[in-house]
Amino acid sequence: MDDQIDCGDALLQLSAFLDGELTDENRLAIADHLNRCAPCDGARHFEGELRTVIQDRCREEVPDDLRQRILAAIADDAK
Ligand SMILES: [Zn+2]
Repeated sequence: MDDQIDCGDALLQLSAFLDGELTDENRLAIADHLNRCAPCDGARHFEGELRTVIQDRCREEVPDDLRQRILAAIADDAK
């Protein structure tokens, strides 16, 4: 089993990870990566906070391009 994922994989699956939509194997792989990778862990907190803000304000959408740009900037830092 290959549990080594890179930052791109981690960020791609971050949304599903936070939604609890991953298989146990994938979830553990992401969690393991987040523990070892500060930039991705930061992205996890960012996503989590974003969701909290959205829920608190009962807003349906954050502009997707803004979200993608921030995630891309974080992923870029990880290189
Ligand atoms: Zn990473």
